[in-house]
Amino acid sequence: MFSYKPKPQSVLSLSSKTIYHSSPPTTIFRSANQTKQSHARIIVSGLAGDAKLMAHLLLSLALSSAPPLQYSLSIYQNFKYPSVFATNNLIRCFAKSDSPCRSVFLYSSVLRKHAKPNNHTFTFLFQACSEALGMEEGAQIHAHVVKFGLADDLFIRNALINFYSACSRLECSVKVFEESLSSRDLVTWNTTLACFVRDGQIGLAEELFDEMPERDVISWSTIIAGYVQIGHLEQALKLFRDVREKGLRVNEAMLVSVLSAAAQLGLLEHGKLVHSVAKSLKFPMTTSLGTSLIDMYAKCGCIEQSKLLFSNMPQKDSWTWNVLICGLATHGLAKEALALFGSFINEGFAPATVTFIGVLSACSRAGLVEKGRHYFKLMTENYGIEPEMEHYGCMVDLLGRAGFVNEAVELIDKMQVTPDPVLWATLLGACKIHGYAELGEKIGHKLIKLDPSHGGHYVQLSTIYAKVNKWEEVIRVRRLMIERNTNKAAGWSLIEAHGRVHKFVAGDREHERFMEIRKMLETIGTRIAEAGYSPNISSVLHDIGDEEKEIVLKEHSERLAIALGLLVTPDGECIRVVKNLRVCEDCHEVSKIISKVFVREIIVRDGSRFHHFKDGTCSCGDFW
Ligand code: ZN
Ligand code: ZN
Repeated sequence: MFSYKPKPQSVLSLSSKTIYHSSPPTTIFRSANQTKQSHARIIVSGLAGDAKLMAHLLLSLALSSAPPLQYSLSIYQNFKYPSVFATNNLIRCFAKSDSPCRSVFLYSSVLRKHAKPNNHTFTFLFQACSEALGMEEGAQIHAHVVKFGLADDLFIRNALINFYSACSRLECSVKVFEESLSSRDLVTWNTTLACFVRDGQIGLAEELFDEMPERDVISWSTIIAGYVQIGHLEQALKLFRDVREKGLRVNEAMLVSVLSAAAQLGLLEHGKLVHSVAKSLKFPMTTSLGTSLIDMYAKCGCIEQSKLLFSNMPQKDSWTWNVLICGLATHGLAKEALALFGSFINEGFAPATVTFIGVLSACSRAGLVEKGRHYFKLMTENYGIEPEMEHYGCMVDLLGRAGFVNEAVELIDKMQVTPDPVLWATLLGACKIHGYAELGEKIGHKLIKLDPSHGGHYVQLSTIYAKVNKWEEVIRVRRLMIERNTNKAAGWSLIEAHGRVHKFVAGDREHERFMEIRKMLETIGTRIAEAGYSPNISSVLHDIGDEEKEIVLKEHSERLAIALGLLVTPDGECIRVVKNLRVCEDCHEVSKIISKVFVREIIVRDGSRFHHFKDGTCSCGDFW
């Protein structure tokens, strides 16, 4: 039924925890400490010899989130003839522990005593093997299942499907799923669906989802997570709307997935809708939901809302802090980001790689050279974190733009990893700003060699030549670029209005209100000219790597989006635009003037940061 194509190992590393969204437990689980108290009472009451009671005590430990291993084992060792129920519970404790392999050792030791396992034994054993990624052990246990005549057991089959997928053997999972049509239930379908999603096989997941005889909240949240995982964000949002329209149940995992989709796309209205759904259904503000909301608001331009949520959150983990530190950084709020980092350390959290990406990018976006140097040193020397490409990227950007081009070169020379083209391109940008023509030329040629299909590199190099008036070289590089038929990254901008997402590319004429948009562009042109604006022609050159060079400046995608924003949103309301590439100098200037003459706050999320245009200035201080 499903034609499975094996995929390279590297893409199969997704943790099962990100896929499995079980419903909230209906049983009230006791903590291990509560169980210990019950144990004390049992001893005091003289019932410690009651094997049944003690086996239930083991069950209680197995159900707790982190069963105490030695304690569980000591209870088990007191059984003279442990029942299969007691053994199963100890296997379950081991399966949850840091050494799940001990489940398998226990199983083989009870087999030697000729005890007979039952279907639950195998279910827990496969859980242990999934955790330990014990493919060989699991396959042997699969053979035992057949020998004991339990191959048709539904619970075992479901556990097997999950086990093979956890060990990156999707083809085996599919085989188990297809083997027995009679022993399938909703869990079987959901587990198989999760296997496809985990493996990134969204086509197969869709096929299976369509074939499912019935679906529950887990089926829906799994397929939505699958879309988000592979970047089909619009599809994820659409499915969520279907769920709502059909009046189906929503779970927290689903909310977290769609929040991530809205955040990545920068769609505030969608994100707000998810937030209101969470509120109306009275979802508790868990760490994961709260953190997703903070991330969504930050990525959709509402950093104030993120800060508010953060301070009201009952429980935060280090991820919550990291999300806000990075959010503040993208909004150019360096001081606040660094202060938050300070509190993060004072609270006793250990910074991770991503924490320093936030900290260093805060410094880089605000041009805080001294601080950047300090935190880079702190990261490597105090916290022993090996810098990654992103960290170097922040530092090279920071040093390069501030004019410390040689220091940036030294840093690159000392790198343990091979610098990627993005890093060289960052340095090339710095050479361009500060007129390091010779170095720029060298890097430009290196980049063209490394990444010959990237049009932007040719453009940068030709700009460097243009700056030093080497026009023949400019023409040569341009010709090379055309000959090689390079692919320019397609620039787009989007804006949400009236519950719809409007996406524009440069020079777009497809929009149904294009005539009105064009008129608005003319009005904008006249009014900003009255305010003293004259176009920055160098941006035509500067920008052609970003947006089609044939398109004149005034039709860059964000201008079309802003024009639509002025047309359709009420006077005085903020206009929010998301753009995939960096804003060009000219559009930046124009946005500032529009914010003043039309008295509109404009928030643009570009490829690297946020720009809040208000009253003729931008929050980035023209440093981007
Ligand atoms: Zn532009
Ligand atoms: Zn700006």
